[in-house]
Amino acid sequence: GGPKNLVMTHGCKGSVLKAEEIHQNDPRQRLVILGSGWGAVSVINQLDPKKFHVTVISPTNYFLFTPLLPSATVGTLELRSLIEPVRRLLSRLGGYYLEGRADDIDFENQLVEVVGVNDSEGRKFYVPYDKLVIAVGSESMTHGVEGLEHCNFLKSIVDARDIRKKVMENFEKASLPTTTDEERHQLLSFVVCGGGPTGVEFAAELYDFLNEDLVGYFPAIHLDDVQVSIIQSAEHILNTYDLKISEMTEAKFKRDKINVVTNSRVVKVNPTSVVYKDKSTGKQQEVPFGVCLWSTGVGMTPLVKSLVEKLPEGSQQNRHAIETDRYMRVIGTPEGTVYAIGDCATIPQPHFVDKVMEILKESDTNGDNVLSYEEFQELANKIIAKHNVLKVFLGRLDKVFEEYDKDNSGTLDLDEIRAFLVDAEKGCTALPATAQVANQQGRFVGQRINTLHAIENDPVAVAALPQFNYKHLGSLAYIGGGGAALDMGQGMVYGGIGSEYMWRSVYFSEQVSIRTRLLLLMDWSKRALFGRDISK
Ligand code: FAD
Ligand code: MG
Ligand code: MG
Ligand code: MG
Ligand code: MG
Repeated sequence: GGPKNLVMTHGCKGSVLKAEEIHQNDPRQRLVILGSGWGAVSVINQLDPKKFHVTVISPTNYFLFTPLLPSATVGTLELRSLIEPVRRLLSRLGGYYLEGRADDIDFENQLVEVVGVNDSEGRKFYVPYDKLVIAVGSESMTHGVEGLEHCNFLKSIVDARDIRKKVMENFEKASLPTTTDEERHQLLSFVVCGGGPTGVEFAAELYDFLNEDLVGYFPAIHLDDVQVSIIQSAEHILNTYDLKISEMTEAKFKRDKINVVTNSRVVKVNPTSVVYKDKSTGKQQEVPFGVCLWSTGVGMTPLVKSLVEKLPEGSQQNRHAIETDRYMRVIGTPEGTVYAIGDCATIPQPHFVDKVMEILKESDTNGDNVLSYEEFQELANKIIAKHNVLKVFLGRLDKVFEEYDKDNSGTLDLDEIRAFLVDAEKGCTALPATAQVANQQGRFVGQRINTLHAIENDPVAVAALPQFNYKHLGSLAYIGGGGAALDMGQGMVYGGIGSEYMWRSVYFSEQVSIRTRLLLLMDWSKRALFGRDISK
């Protein structure tokens, strides 16, 4: 059926049905969820089974607990302990799961076009919906850099497995008598491109592994043979956190002899070396590597790119995510049918530019209608304190100032500032791409559609439903040796001994099932007693 005359199903028994028949078989609303990550699972956990016929479509048949993924790259945790089967999560709802990838969405006819993941013929089918939740996450950004095929990524369980295999392989190769000093140096050089939480945690896990297990198990390798480097384009690592946390982490890494290169952009990746350029001097350097992790931020998946393009002109402006209203409904789709949450979604800040132009008057202390660099700095810091939007510019406000001072007057006039704000808003998402955001948005949408079910025909009651409101519970990154960097929003910093416990307990309480908690507990005890599993 449908415009392309494909098989029509939504995962029920006797799966090939006509659209009308599907409805007759089951009077419940058809809710389709794309994805099985943080956002999707938070929706699933809220739903009332009596109200919805739920179908989840995702190429991965499990939920992945991403915050602990870096621990799996060196064997601190087992991969199996970080995942939860979708079918188990769906059983409470009597829901259905289809192992497929959404290829396209026909918003008008309310159909998702799906292709089976392991179908070698790539046959497509339609899944009709009354309500749709898009929670397909994001993809690693490439920034157009050449040679990324030589890098490892850290988004999925397969990625973590690949890294673990390669790390162990390199240590084994480096221990062979035939390996030259130069080869050993290259094999045992670990380069991380990107100084965000994922890159930092990977470096920290590697450091723990080197200090806790390497010495005992690889007598042929000396600690000095190993080099861990982080290449970061901003002035600090963890640059979306409080500055104190960045500085604390950098100081710890310095003591640990982790080589932190800031203010540098990777220009090219060769099969066994990375070329980067110092942004202020323009000087290029080459570092050899045995393993190179690419983790420089996230952007749109192919599906999201195509959806943003096909939505009505003018409705979608952002370059990183699908824009939704404050109820997480996709702008430009028939009202109330399609939601988007998590990494793939962003809520534009209404009148952001105008509001900033208002507080600008306060920053222009001498009232001459142009901003000096100091005045601009003050303005930017005020905005950053209130909105996430400009946070990515922290540490490089001077560059921004230069770039937008088009007439080189040494000041920014109102038009120059407006141009900067408009670009800044399109180029960022309003909230960071975190599990915390996806989880809260998923919970919000789940609760909303549960409530809507009874009041959908009452526009007054519908209008009175609350908007999405993000509550920041703090950010946190493991930085090795039992220490964690915490940013509780007001610049509070906890570090060192004890914070590892906090770090774990925060994730413990967020964790999904008792089964998984038990698995994690066993892994941690096992490691404490016997060290890491160093087999490949
Ligand atoms: P995801 O959880 O990525 O889920 C996307 C889902 O969509 C996946 O199941 C995927 O298979 C599926 N999918 C993709 N394409 C399609 C398609 N075409 N059709 C159907 N399904 C599709 N956040 C924190 O808050 N704290 C942390 O400590 C933290 N640590 C992290 C560490 C690592 C290594 C990584 C990679 C991320 C970390 N994050 C952390 C970020 C967090 O994981 C993401 O922000 C979060 O997963 C976003 O949730 P989501 O539901 O939008 O996407
Ligand atoms: Mg998801
Ligand atoms: Mg988002
Ligand atoms: Mg002035
Ligand atoms: Mg100027």
